[in-house]
Amino acid sequence: MSNGRNVTGGGSGNSGRGKKNCACSFCGKSHRDVGPMVEGANDVFICSACIEQCHNLIREERRRTTSRPLFKEKIPRPREIATFLDQYVVGQDHVKKTISVAVHNHYKRLLHGDAMDDAEVEIEKSNILLIGPTGSGKTLLARSLARVLNVPFAIGDATTLTEAGYVGEDVENILLRLLQNADFDLEAAQRGIIYLDEIDKIGKTWNNVSITRDVSGEGVQQALLKMLEGTVSNIPPQGGRKHPEQQYIQMDTSNILFICGGTFVGLDKIIRKRLGRKKIGFETSQHVTDDLADLRGVLEQVTPDDLIEFGMIPEFVGRLPVLCPLHPLNVDAMVKILSEPRNALIRQYQKLFEMEGARLEFTPESLEEIARRAMARDTGARALRSIVEEFMIPYMFDLPEVKDTGPFVVTPEVVRGEANLFQSARRRKESA
Ligand code: ADP
Repeated sequence: MSNGRNVTGGGSGNSGRGKKNCACSFCGKSHRDVGPMVEGANDVFICSACIEQCHNLIREERRRTTSRPLFKEKIPRPREIATFLDQYVVGQDHVKKTISVAVHNHYKRLLHGDAMDDAEVEIEKSNILLIGPTGSGKTLLARSLARVLNVPFAIGDATTLTEAGYVGEDVENILLRLLQNADFDLEAAQRGIIYLDEIDKIGKTWNNVSITRDVSGEGVQQALLKMLEGTVSNIPPQGGRKHPEQQYIQMDTSNILFICGGTFVGLDKIIRKRLGRKKIGFETSQHVTDDLADLRGVLEQVTPDDLIEFGMIPEFVGRLPVLCPLHPLNVDAMVKILSEPRNALIRQYQKLFEMEGARLEFTPESLEEIARRAMARDTGARALRSIVEEFMIPYMFDLPEVKDTGPFVVTPEVVRGEANLFQSARRRKESA
């Protein structure tokens, strides 16, 4: 071997120069215990376990010293954040504005943390609560935020969390996921974003107690609350349940931004009741009726007290100062979601056709047909993908063998399965 390094020792004595009695200069173990070793200058040896340990130490040290800077230049301004979100998230303009400000302030607070230590005014953490129906873009918003800020991101589902000792997930596992997504860069993870879905299901009125799960239990709520408030959590690096003999990674959650989301079914009734009670008597009942007729308008008036009445524990609500109600999506918004975002579904299909040298088009009516079908499923924009896949998969299956290059035009009939995309293009050409 070059550089004066040889592999030596080893049980069979057939490697290196056969120095059978050598011992690792780092851990002291003999070659009989640890197998072949690498020999350096001056009779120094190292075993494979020590090589690996050194490798890890150096990697850790490199990571520590080259930890991602929080922001390369400056914190993106609220307007920049909102403009970035516009590329991925359709509508929800009010929410985009609110969370852009909240997130900007959050990272401003982090960046100026040291300078603020003895300041008189302490800026509180702006954890965010997104309230909106399934498939209205809550997860997408949180994920896109992490992307614009280039910080680690993890998603947790409150309904899978259980108290230690029950079957399910420990609260710490979400932190571990964040750490994994940060490539074990602890500093970066400690200022990442965690999205906690289905937070409405841990309300005390939510009755889903079972033998194996204690979702609504105080333990889970208290553990989550601690995490939101800021605590130093012991993370088992291998995941799973904690063992006394395991080495833990200590993770400080005080600078992690928590975005919680939930559908909060029935919350509008609580708000309506409050609004009705308050307004009737000194405003015209017509005004009140107009107000209440609009679910969007109602949810926009949510207060922390409404959430407490819904069943959230007050301390929890107190830790989520930024309340953002999302609008349910209408057909118009669904059409936009299909076609406008950077990675819009129909753009992806068009790209796939382009890769085969063919052109794919969608008529505006076909987009409306897809959107209407999606609305009927009541899962928000989530249904769009499956509806498009249902009618497109047979064409994608045949596409590589189709000689024609189109343009292939998707019409409402194609969406409904009443016309064939490829045959319609051929017929159009023949009649032209
Ligand atoms: P939620 O978390 O509110 O249940 P998601 O954010 O997971 O919903 O949305 C599901 C999918 O629907 C997303 O991956 C995205 O493709 C699409 N979607 C939902 N809402 C929007 C929106 N406002 N703009 C763009 N796409 C959306």
